[in-house]
Amino acid sequence: MGKIIAVANQKGGVGKTTSAINLAASLAALEYKTLLVDADPQANATSGVGFDPKDISKSIYECMVDNVKAENIIMPSNIDFLDLIPSHIDLVGAEVEMINLPDREVKMKEALAPIKDRYDFIIIDCSPSLGLITVNSLTAANSVIIPVQCEYFALEGLGKLLNTIKIIQSRLNQDLEIEGILLTMYDVRLRLSNQVVEEVQLHFQQMVFETIIPRNVKLSESPSFGVPALLHDADSKGAISYLNLAREIVEKNGILQPQ
Ligand code: ADP
Ligand code: MG
Repeated sequence: MGKIIAVANQKGGVGKTTSAINLAASLAALEYKTLLVDADPQANATSGVGFDPKDISKSIYECMVDNVKAENIIMPSNIDFLDLIPSHIDLVGAEVEMINLPDREVKMKEALAPIKDRYDFIIIDCSPSLGLITVNSLTAANSVIIPVQCEYFALEGLGKLLNTIKIIQSRLNQDLEIEGILLTMYDVRLRLSNQVVEEVQLHFQQMVFETIIPRNVKLSESPSFGVPALLHDADSKGAISYLNLAREIVEKNGILQPQ
C-alpha cells in the first residue's frame, strides 16, 4: 500500500522542493515505485525532474478543481520507478475556485485514492503557505516531513505549522503522523548551523531525522539541469545524504525491499 508523505513548511526557501525531489529520486533509485506530486504553483518540483511547466496542459489543478482522473495526468519521468503529477501556475487560482466546493479539503485525497496503491511512496511537495492546497496535501497524507533550515530563525513559524497539523489531525485526518523534522543546509563550519542542530534535537528529540542534509552546491545546481542530484553527481554529499534519508524512512516504516 502506498505511503503518502507531504513535505511541508509554510516558510519559503527551507528546502522543501529540494527534499521532495531528491527523496523521491532516492526512493526510486532503491527501486520503490514512487510518485512525486507537485502541489506548488511555482512548479519547481516539475521543472526539477525535467519538465517545462509551460508545456504542462494538465496538472494537479485539474485533478482537484475539474475532477480529472489522476491516472490521466501522471507523467513517467526519465528516471526508472519515478512518476510525476506536475503543477502549473493555474494552481494559484485553485484556492479561490475551491472555496465554495463541498469537501474542499479532501480534493487531493480523493484524486490520489484510485492510484495510491500503484506506488510504494507518494511524495507531495507543498507550497510555502498553509492555505487550502497545503491543507489538502496534509489531509491526503499519511505523514509529513518538515524541513528546517540550519539558519537564523530556524524555528520561526514551526509552532504555527505544528498547530495546523494538530487541527488537521483533529478535524480532517486523524491518522496524520509526523514522519520527521529534517535539518537542511547544514554547514559544519558554521557555529550557527551547529547551534541550530543542537537546539532542534534538544527540543524535538526522536522527531528529528538522524540524517542531516548538508549545504551542497550539487543540490542547488542540479535543478538547472532538470535532474535530481543523484543524476547530476551521484557521489556528491547532497545526493548521498538524500539516499541515506530514503533508507532511514524505509527502515523506520519497516517497508521491505520491493519484490
Ligand atoms: P523551498 O521549496 O522550501 O522553498 P528549496 O528546496 O527551493 O526550498 O530551496 C531553496 C533554495 O536553496 C534553492 O535555491 C535550493 O537550490 C537551495 N537549496 C536547498 N537545499 C540546499 C542544500 N542542502 N544545499 C544547497 N542549496 C540548497
Ligand atoms: Mg518549493
